[in-house]
Amino acid sequence: MSRTSIHVVVGFLSALVLTGSLTTERSAAQAPANGATALTNVRIIDGTGAAPVERGTIVTSNGRITAAGASVQVPAGATRVDFTGKTVMPGMVNAHAHVQNLTKSMPMRDDLVRRLRLYAAYGITTAVSLGQVDTAEQMEVVRLRDEQDRGPLDRARVYTSGPSIRGLKTMDEVRQTVDRYVDQKVDRIKTHVTPQMTPDQYAALIEQAHKRGMRVNAHIFTLDEAKMVLERGVDVIAHSVRDRDVDQALINAMKARNVGYIPTLTRDLSLVVYQSTPAFFKEPFFQRGMAVYEEQVKVLSSPERQAKFRADPQTKMIEKALEQGTRNLKLLSDAGVTIAMGTDSGTDEGRWQGYFEQVEVEMMVKAGLTPMQAIVAATGAAARVSKLDHVGTIAAGKAADLVVLDANPLQDIRNLRQINSVWVAGRRMGTTGTN
Ligand SMILES: [Zn+2]
Repeated sequence: MSRTSIHVVVGFLSALVLTGSLTTERSAAQAPANGATALTNVRIIDGTGAAPVERGTIVTSNGRITAAGASVQVPAGATRVDFTGKTVMPGMVNAHAHVQNLTKSMPMRDDLVRRLRLYAAYGITTAVSLGQVDTAEQMEVVRLRDEQDRGPLDRARVYTSGPSIRGLKTMDEVRQTVDRYVDQKVDRIKTHVTPQMTPDQYAALIEQAHKRGMRVNAHIFTLDEAKMVLERGVDVIAHSVRDRDVDQALINAMKARNVGYIPTLTRDLSLVVYQSTPAFFKEPFFQRGMAVYEEQVKVLSSPERQAKFRADPQTKMIEKALEQGTRNLKLLSDAGVTIAMGTDSGTDEGRWQGYFEQVEVEMMVKAGLTPMQAIVAATGAAARVSKLDHVGTIAAGKAADLVVLDANPLQDIRNLRQINSVWVAGRRMGTTGTN
């Protein structure tokens, strides 16, 4: 066989594999039309922190949960799915994600959609994108968001802040930028706290956003930055405080207005873990995402790139910051501050959409949270902090976004990886890379 024909055959085979997996995905996505589906004999972790229900039933219809609990009647004609021995929890909500077009070798929309499918395959059924690269990308994400309530959904839900607001010069500019993003139909505002903008400008930003009905999420690093925006009315602290221990004043300020806190521990992990090739590159659970991850895995596996991480003074600084952030997560959780899972995945190199949300939850447990606290942070609390009332918990009226697990994550948080199936708006998704 000539070189060319081998090439053609290989190309044909990989096309076949691709088409094959897409077809499976489509047929696996059951569309029960308007009919009801009942998941029976399941352990239900409802995302609120309540004790799990054993051998419960969840009924869904039209993309919504219509009933859930221990003594639920299965409506006549409903499709029954017996999930004896399985645990069902709400699809996870990433309160600090990024849904960005990082791969330039395909149309923007295709890249964004495959990333949302990847999130869903890992059990993350809602991604709150706190930062877009530019207007074109922002508009595409807004379109995807608006489409998701109209038809059958085969990917994670997405919400967006538009680009993070930073480095503006005047109060007028700040207010006009907020107005522009709101007019372009973002559903929240994100800002980076840096010395380039004055506290008064942050006050104006927050005031303008609130006037337009938007909540403000702030990127911070230090305790002082967190306090500065808290005093000016910010709604969400979107990263860990990483320079020193949090104090009672911060705790009081956060609790007084129920401001949520998103640790993004894996964001810092991504700045320290590629000094050598991380062991997780070899994990089958990571490799499920390889179709999307491959491009960056190659870059981060290169000895030159790893040497650069080792030589960069930032690496040592972030190692300390990660330790501090981990410690502050436990302090704030113990103090009763609302913790929401978020990762910053989908931005820079090595922030793996899907895989890192799983690692984030595991790191929360390593920080000292109970598995139940970490699960609540990744479901009900993340939805509350993101003001998304229709997702994050299992109750009548909520979206039928569910993760079915083969093992109980309350016994071992790593059982979150034992994904049996993921359901979005009542439809069973394919698990990209595995079928
Ligand atoms: Zn971010």
